[in-house]
Amino acid sequence: MQKFMNYIDGKWQEPSTGRYIPVINPANGAVLGMVAQSSSADVDQAVAAARKAQKEWRLVPAPERAELLFTVGRLLKENKERLAQTITSEMGKVIEEARGEVQEAIDMAHYMAGEGRRMFGETMPSELRNKFAMSIRVPIGIVGLITPWNFPIAIASWKSLPALVTGNALVWKPSPDTPIVAEAFVRIYEKAGLPKGLINLVQGSGPEAGAAMVEHPGIDLIGFTGSNAVGKKINERAGALLKRTSLEMGGKNAIIVMDDANLDLAVESIIWSGFGTSGQRCTAASRVIVHEAIKQRLEDKLIAAVRQLKLGDGHDEATDIGPVINKAVLEKINKYVRVGIDEGARLLCGGKTAEKVGNGKGFYYEPTIFTDVMPDMTIAKEEIFGPVLSIIGVKDLESAIEVNNNVSFGLSSSIFTSDVNRVFRAIRDLDTGIVYINAGTTGAEIHLPFGGTKETGNGHRDSGVAALDVYTEWRAVYVDFSNTLQRAQIDTNTK
Ligand code: NAD
Repeated sequence: MQKFMNYIDGKWQEPSTGRYIPVINPANGAVLGMVAQSSSADVDQAVAAARKAQKEWRLVPAPERAELLFTVGRLLKENKERLAQTITSEMGKVIEEARGEVQEAIDMAHYMAGEGRRMFGETMPSELRNKFAMSIRVPIGIVGLITPWNFPIAIASWKSLPALVTGNALVWKPSPDTPIVAEAFVRIYEKAGLPKGLINLVQGSGPEAGAAMVEHPGIDLIGFTGSNAVGKKINERAGALLKRTSLEMGGKNAIIVMDDANLDLAVESIIWSGFGTSGQRCTAASRVIVHEAIKQRLEDKLIAAVRQLKLGDGHDEATDIGPVINKAVLEKINKYVRVGIDEGARLLCGGKTAEKVGNGKGFYYEPTIFTDVMPDMTIAKEEIFGPVLSIIGVKDLESAIEVNNNVSFGLSSSIFTSDVNRVFRAIRDLDTGIVYINAGTTGAEIHLPFGGTKETGNGHRDSGVAALDVYTEWRAVYVDFSNTLQRAQIDTNTK
């Protein structure tokens, strides 16, 4: 049985605990290998290696660091199919989406490599004569990355690539559900020639290895993507330690369909954004807010579209919906569906596990649609993270926007309409970090800022140039070439 170990200071090594747990293929229950369960002792070693490596790395000119990222991009491209197959085996998304995910990592490698020649600071006029003022970016130091299983390589790329090009060193703990693709990504960094100690992989559980990273005084920043419950816990502890955090958390994303929408396009987009990755994308649509005048027509079309969807192993190119990640998640989805029924929502389709799919040992859930959902019902407010959609009827744009904003999350929203006035009001008033017009809630591109408002995040953005702000400090620099004492704010008018 293959073992997935830690990578510390350029060496693949056993965890200090000697413990491993199985990695399960969610499509059929097969054991894919055993993953290391690390402790604080492994985190200590990883931090020491990162510190040593970062001392030198920060002095390497950014364009030279970027050369390495271009090589990472090339290797990702060469290994795209193999990586995609690994993602599908390990977390279940259909192969076409897995390929798209690897493409996102490739794009990010090229984009962030470009930053090696930009990484702009600013020059400003000084208040004083014979004085020059500018700001430059400097690395934070040691970055701890804690990532989820649903985009195991894309999210790791969104964080590791900007962190490295800006001169930091990393300790990375991926989700224990997706250690195999994590190892494959680190092997690509290794093959690209990344100096040892710059990326350290610590496999293991959140409460043990992850919590040890948050506690560690040698880690300057925690870059986290995952659930709100865990993100809040990390932020509380990191806040007490005055450690910077960048948190990307849950969503309760909605697609608004107005009475003048292209209905067939809306249906296609709802199916893609609602049931792609089995509803396990942070930007997945889980609410459809629809104008009462077209509600019945939309429902009929959605039910017909859902009937065409094929559940199965994501490796099969004909599969539309793969499994969910594990048994606990399957049970959580089922619990939410029961709550929906108890609170009075009307089930249009689905609502149960699909036990007969595959060999019967996978974790499949039927694509599920509720209608007549009230905005205050539990299923309309909490993140389910599975293939479950709630349809909410509204009478006009104002109420649609109000319902959209009436949740604690603020990641992504979308509107289908052909009225330009409605479009611009939606852009202004939808309270989410990402807004789509005539497209579903998914489909982010790596050169735009990615993240959410309210409880989805804490004000930072992954991807785009905004990602550089996460991994750098601003340094203000004043160069006085007067050879006299020039006192700021005092000597301004005297010379
Ligand atoms: P999770 O919160 O259970 O786990 C995320 C990571 O945190 C894992 O590596 C886990 O091991 C670690 N962890 C768990 N407990 C910890 C602790 N006490 N201390 C430190 N680390 C700990 O999330 P998940 O189930 O892996 O992912 C699904 C969640 O991620 C959903 O809520 C989804 O919305 C969110 N997500 C958000 C984005 C975004 O960009 N906003 C993107 C993808 C996923």
